[in-house]
Amino acid sequence: MSAAQSKSQVITFGCRLNSYESEVILGHAEKAGLENAIIFNSCAVTAEAVRGVRQAIRKTRRENPAARIIVTGCAAQIDPDMFANMLEVDLVLGNAEKLEARSFTPAIALGNERVRVNDIMSVRETAGHMVSARENSFEGRVRAFVQIQNGCDHRCTFCIIPYGRGPSRSVAAGSVVSEIRGLVAEGYREVVLTGVDITSYGADLPGTPSLGNLATRILKLVPELPRLRISSIDPVEADPVLMRLIAEEERLMPHLHLSLQAGDDMILKRMKRRHLRADAIAFCQEALRLRPDMIFGADLIAGFPTETDDMFENSLRLVDECGLTWLHVFPFSPRAGTPAARMPQTDRATGKARAERLRAKGTEQVHAHLERTLGTAQTILMENGGIGRTRQFTPVRVMDPRALPGSLIEVALTGHDGKSLEGRLAA
Ligand code: SF4
Repeated sequence: MSAAQSKSQVITFGCRLNSYESEVILGHAEKAGLENAIIFNSCAVTAEAVRGVRQAIRKTRRENPAARIIVTGCAAQIDPDMFANMLEVDLVLGNAEKLEARSFTPAIALGNERVRVNDIMSVRETAGHMVSARENSFEGRVRAFVQIQNGCDHRCTFCIIPYGRGPSRSVAAGSVVSEIRGLVAEGYREVVLTGVDITSYGADLPGTPSLGNLATRILKLVPELPRLRISSIDPVEADPVLMRLIAEEERLMPHLHLSLQAGDDMILKRMKRRHLRADAIAFCQEALRLRPDMIFGADLIAGFPTETDDMFENSLRLVDECGLTWLHVFPFSPRAGTPAARMPQTDRATGKARAERLRAKGTEQVHAHLERTLGTAQTILMENGGIGRTRQFTPVRVMDPRALPGSLIEVALTGHDGKSLEGRLAA
């Protein structure tokens, strides 16, 4: 490899699913022997996200004049010309094309074609990818994300994702199980099931297995997997089998991240969500009844078009009524091409101020959770840098050389700094 040549790299933006797919892309590029390529796996969830990718491309081109710059991901899928018109860019790949090995062969990756983006709405399949540890550096080989589903059939009025990812489609359960077996054999102690709308898992598969069926099968067929975690779910679409697992299965982590978005019924209707605030509260109460150590995270948008002060107060109150702890708060930002962008907008300053109030509430919730956890002994999964995570995904700092990354250890929780706990190895 000459001095000018270097290993190809993937720069990932956005969600866990993109992180997973970046591992697939890197594997394809390595197998194809593609060198000196810089691949941007972009996100389009907000206008800001798209701006960030374009800035990164320009900067990278300045610093790497000879590199091959390839752009893929949702921003490239939704608006390929925007990137094809950038002089810095050599090739634009769609979200389906980025998972095809041939896209990274010299014939295509170094060819004259500048745009390979097909109609994502015509895609009906999503293949499982055996992302083995050799290529895979998920979180330092401690926790692995496994894609079980892609795309979305819903049309929430603020969301551009379905136009980047296409219709909902599931990975066959058998492929998921064998991929997880491979990852556990490579030493992973925790697997996170990820996708775009994972509660719609299986609707397109023979026998329409549910997310609960899939999780049951994984835990049965991979008994050596210590921890199974579910990424973000739509609470009203949680199936009865999943609820039973929540109640009965220790290896299913007591941590659910809920795609709630708001706590006011009128706003939820204008978002075209499938639930009302009473449904969210009922779901959380039921999950807590079944699993008293359950902890909830949630996505919440502040300043959605037409949101009044009273409507916002309903969202703020929902945090207590659902017992939410890990809040991901987003001030609304209109996304061109979505119905919400055409609605009467709430002014930005109000949206930002409301987001700050929600975040402050989130900080209080985390503090209360850390206080409740103090003095207990818990099993944590150590990551790198002296940090581990409890089953509830609470970060714990353990300054002990015996606390090796990838190890499941018992610690006594002795203190906290408002964000993470301090742990001491149990004797
Ligand atoms: S469920 Fe709604 S928010 Fe989630 S990806 Fe689909 S359209 Fe977007």
